[in-house]
Amino acid sequence: MARCPVCFRHCEIKDGALGFCGGRTAVDGKTVSANYGRITSLALDPIEKKPLARFCQGSYILSVGSFGCNLRCPFCQNYEISWSQEAFRFGETADRLSPEELVELAMNTRPRGNIGIAFTYNEPLIGYEFVRDTSKLAKDRGLKNVLVSNGTAELEILGEIAPYIDAMNIDLKGFRDDYYRDLLGGSRKQVMDFIQKAVETAHVELTTLIIPGENDSEEEIRDLSRWVGDLRNPDGQPVPLHITRFFPRFHMTDRGATDVKWVYHLADLARESVKYVYVGNC
Ligand code: SF4
Repeated sequence: MARCPVCFRHCEIKDGALGFCGGRTAVDGKTVSANYGRITSLALDPIEKKPLARFCQGSYILSVGSFGCNLRCPFCQNYEISWSQEAFRFGETADRLSPEELVELAMNTRPRGNIGIAFTYNEPLIGYEFVRDTSKLAKDRGLKNVLVSNGTAELEILGEIAPYIDAMNIDLKGFRDDYYRDLLGGSRKQVMDFIQKAVETAHVELTTLIIPGENDSEEEIRDLSRWVGDLRNPDGQPVPLHITRFFPRFHMTDRGATDVKWVYHLADLARESVKYVYVGNC
């Protein structure tokens, strides 16, 4: 049995089996990425869609995703590639791209405004080896690297990729331990530690998806934004916060979309502590 070092779950994995996230396996008693270079999604997106509001505004970025996820958010917007039955089938069907091939694609899209590569759509860090190898090559070619992550990884894993990552959008999905643990299958502490370390080396922006009846109280948003308000990026600027609107998806269809007025109201509350607050999906 191999013990996975990537996230708080520290799965014990038998050779050839998959860890909880479906993206890692074990070979000769050592865990490795099972989704290395296995591509399920590829698109040239506006950087604002990551979302990043204060990093290379107006540019595009080649955005790439694989399969698997170490959380179990019932409202996942990308469940087809993250943790549904279909997601785990991508182990057999996903296309393959080497780091060299992906960097070449990114270079070829530079004339269309591309600044680099964004690792996104599913949770990239369960396959951190591909992120590390590709972003290193991309950096050598003068490209920017962006990570869009749930922040649920050990700091040693962040340390492996941090030298090559220019910007990150990290989910801070709520500000209660029970919300992270019981609804998402996550660890708020691990995410907060990750964010505090990430801001030391990369431009970081945070995203909070507002779920009606779960994390949408004034008190929770005030607590969350007070913590965010103390964070600073490497240039000394405050860390931006994106407050986004939920739509019923996947296993959470028992309630409607977040009321738009309430999203704007919570964003106004967040502005009491955070300088840059953006509203999304409204
Ligand atoms: S990254 Fe995947 S295999 Fe590793 S501990 Fe987390 S859930 Fe388990």
